[in-house]
This record gives sequence, structure tokens and C-alpha cells, in this order.
Amino acid sequence: MATVQDRPEVEQVEPSSNGHGYGEQKEWKPGPDAPFLGRSVEQVGPWEPIKASENPHEKNKRGELGKPLFNWYFNRTSKDPLGRISFIQSAADKKNVAFFAVGQAPKGKVNSEKPKVQDAKTLTKHIKRVAHYMGADLVGITATHPSLLYSDGAEVDNLGSVPGLAQKNEAEAGLPTHERYPNAIVITVAWDYDKIQAHRHHIGDHAYHFSQARLGAIYENLVRYIKEMGYSAVRNLAQPMPTALSAGLGEMGRNGILITEKYGARIHLSSPILTDMPLLSDKPIDIGVTDFCARCKKCATTCPTNSITMEDKVVHNGIKKYKLNWETCYRLRAYVMDFWEVCMSCVTICPYTKPRRWWHDLAIQTLKRTPTSLRAGVVWPLKWIDDAFWGTVPKKRVKWLDYDTAVYHGKNGKNGNGTHEEPDPKSKIGYYHPLKENTRRFELLKEREKTATTRTKQD
Ligand code: SF4
Ligand code: SF4
Repeated sequence: MATVQDRPEVEQVEPSSNGHGYGEQKEWKPGPDAPFLGRSVEQVGPWEPIKASENPHEKNKRGELGKPLFNWYFNRTSKDPLGRISFIQSAADKKNVAFFAVGQAPKGKVNSEKPKVQDAKTLTKHIKRVAHYMGADLVGITATHPSLLYSDGAEVDNLGSVPGLAQKNEAEAGLPTHERYPNAIVITVAWDYDKIQAHRHHIGDHAYHFSQARLGAIYENLVRYIKEMGYSAVRNLAQPMPTALSAGLGEMGRNGILITEKYGARIHLSSPILTDMPLLSDKPIDIGVTDFCARCKKCATTCPTNSITMEDKVVHNGIKKYKLNWETCYRLRAYVMDFWEVCMSCVTICPYTKPRRWWHDLAIQTLKRTPTSLRAGVVWPLKWIDDAFWGTVPKKRVKWLDYDTAVYHGKNGKNGNGTHEEPDPKSKIGYYHPLKENTRRFELLKEREKTATTRTKQD
């Protein structure tokens, strides 16, 4: 196994010239050039195509985010055996990660025979039923639009992006991607609710990674099924978030995550399927996320890295939305990898994520039915109920297999009561690493890295 000492040196690379790595700016026109994404995310001005090769993982793989994160990505092995088989970067032996094999599976050909029934209404109903049968919790469809696509294409096979995939695809087809594949299918699976109460813990990691693996397998089965029905189907070309918004799966919250009506934020998104199968589009939904997020801010209060804004929406690349500081969120991983992998406190705390009981459904239905101008009056009591029943900071004790979130799993640890004693077996409070602890630490580390780089350059 690689150690810190024999890890490769990483060259510090300057960020791309325009600061965010997007490509050429496109002319923006209102109307058909702006797909409707609902109330939570609005296109209000010119946008620039997004490159998949500029996403956080890809930047990190090139060493652009510094050594600690580079080593987190390439040189970590989970101390937890379930962790070692659920995610490729935590593996001791990649062959023990079934998810890895799914991404590597060879791609089959399209059947030359199509079914007799080819009307869009029938095929839409059929493909949604099949996706649900395969295990999808939610399925949505939308028309493919250039602004939903990556400008370079991505290869989501755990090996990295392949710049030029979109161009190669278009050259082979002789058509732009959105005309070659006019429809997009988005599916999602929900994480286990009880286990994500153990956010910032291995239990929560497993809920996250195993549902991610399930989603990958369902997507790949659906691609193969569409091909066997005589239609083309590809992935790795469309951006998950805007495609899911356009397909009516949910709305984007202050936490930067898709919030769905049934499962709240505890869902996975992955690369949608693009296809030439005739299908009918769904419409963006309004479940009141814009109104709730304007007043709630529970995720921003809970976020240990202050990555979620307390401020209003801003316009970024022509899109009005809450802007997450992805870099501070991402940086946390390198410093906590001995204890847990994914944070997701902002998923657990979100009122929409709470379990599907009658009052959860009633609250969302009430919001949906209230005119937008009057929703503020409904949000406050709903938020008050959420705070009263679920608390303002998620700290529930979760026990599962041999795990127990009341036992701190680090050195010199404390238990759920903040002492070094054995936790009270009856305690319902779990130990979670102190909130906001890491923010200042990141700043110091960044300053130290910057100083070291400057010194190296001067030398
Ligand atoms: S650090 Fe945690 S709470 Fe904050 S945005 Fe990232 S995942 Fe969410
Ligand atoms: S926790 Fe509150 S502010 Fe954050 S995404 Fe959920 S509803 Fe919006």
C-alpha cells in the first residue's frame, strides 16, 4: 500500500484562466434557448458551456487542489471493510469493488429490430415502469437541450473524464448531441433514512456508497434494455443537476442538492441516459423549496465548513441560484478520512429529508397549494415544528452491526456526553465531530500551502 512518504509529488497548477474553467461563451437568447428548470434555479443571462473535466474530482486528479486532497483521492484505504468494497477510492483491492466492474462493463450493440408499438406515450409509460422494476425510486424525462450537456463529455467509469467524448460522439453521428439523442432519462435511488442519521460516520458512508452503487447498476441495466428495444442510449454527456430539474425530479436547495418530494435530499444523482427513443417530457415541479430555503437555513447553520451560504441567491454563469462553496466542502474529506468519508450533514438536517409520515406529506402538500406570495406565512410554523421535533443540529445516536455513533472512533476520544467515559447504554445522543471546527483549519492550511508554493517558486 502506498504511504504518505512514497506518494507522488504533486505540482501546484494555476487555476484555468477564466477562473472556473468553462469554455467559450455562447450567445444567450430568452425563450427556447433557456430550458425551464423551475423556481429554484433560473437562467437569467448568458451561460458558458460546462466542462466535465473541470469538476472537483477531475481537478483533484490533476493535482490542482493540493497534496492533502490528491492523497485522499489516490492513496487512501478505508479502515472499514464495508468501506473498502463500496467505493473504488477506498479500496484495498479494486477487484473487490463490484461498482468498479459495472463501470468497466463492455458496451453492447443496438438491436436492429424495434418494437411494433412506437408511440411516445406508450413508450414513456413502459420505460418508467421498467426503471421502477429495476429499482429506481424516481424517474423523470426531459428534452435534451445543449445547455444541459457538458461541452467535452465525461466518462463516468471511475477512471476519469475523457475530454472530447462529446465531440467524438457528434462527429460519428453527424448530428449535434441534442438532435442525435433528443430525450434524457433521469433516475435516482434514495439512501436509507435511518442510516443517514449517522452523518459524518461510517454508517452514513455505507448508506451513501451502496445506494450509489445500486443507482449505477440500474442505470447500466436500463441503457442495455433500451438498446435491446432498438434505440440508442448513451450516458456521460449530460449534467445531472439541470437535467433532473428539467425532468421534474425535484428542486435545488440552499445546500446545492436536489430536493425531492418523497425523499428530500437523501438521493443520488448520476449521469442521465440520452436516447433517441420517442418519449414525453415531464415538467419541473414546485414543492416550495425556494420559499422554504429563503427562511430555513438549517443546512447553512449545521455545515461544518461554512460552505453553504446564509445569503440570498446569486447569478453565477447566467444562473440564479444558491452558490455552494464546493472547494471548502470538498477539502474537509482529506482531514477526516480516518473517521468517515462523506459529510452530508446538510442532507440529514434538511426538513424535506424527514421520514415520510402523514405530517411530512401534509406539510409539502400545504406548501404546494399555498400561493407563492403567502408561503412565508406557512414556512415559519413548519420550520418551528421541524426544530421542535428533530432539533436544530442532527445528533441522533445510531447503532447498527458493531457500529455505534455514541462511541468516538478517534484517538483521545469523547463519547456522546462529551466525556472520555464509556457512553451511557441508554443515551440517545451520538458523538459528532464539533461543528465549525474545520473552517479555520482550512484557512491555515491554505495559507501554509500558499507560502510553501511561493517559497518553492522563489527557490
Ligand atoms: S461540508 Fe458537509 S454540510 Fe457542508 S456542504 Fe459539504 S456535505 Fe454539506
Ligand atoms: S435545510 Fe432548509 S435551507 Fe437547507 S436546503 Fe433544506 S430547506 Fe433549504
